[in-house]
Amino acid sequence: MSFTKLLIVFICGFVVWKLFMGDKRYKQNKAEEKTENLQASGEMVKDPVCGAYVSKNSDIRVRQGDVVLNFCSYDCRETYLKRIQGSEEGGKS
Ligand SMILES: [Zn+2]
Repeated sequence: MSFTKLLIVFICGFVVWKLFMGDKRYKQNKAEEKTENLQASGEMVKDPVCGAYVSKNSDIRVRQGDVVLNFCSYDCRETYLKRIQGSEEGGKS
């Protein structure tokens, strides 16, 4: 009788563990899928200010003629805009 009880407790523990591990694995798969989708959905381009790689689909960008530059943050975009404005002014004078 006590052995049966032990067996039931063991099985219950196993089932809970299985569920927990299964859930963890499922989440991991989800995360992997997400990164795969990111890689598939867009090229990665280099932020010209800090050198970080950002998705081409990023909203933070500056169009310069035919070239679209993507930035990792609005700070980097501001820095870049100030830089090109500065060089343009420098070229005129
Ligand atoms: Zn940046």
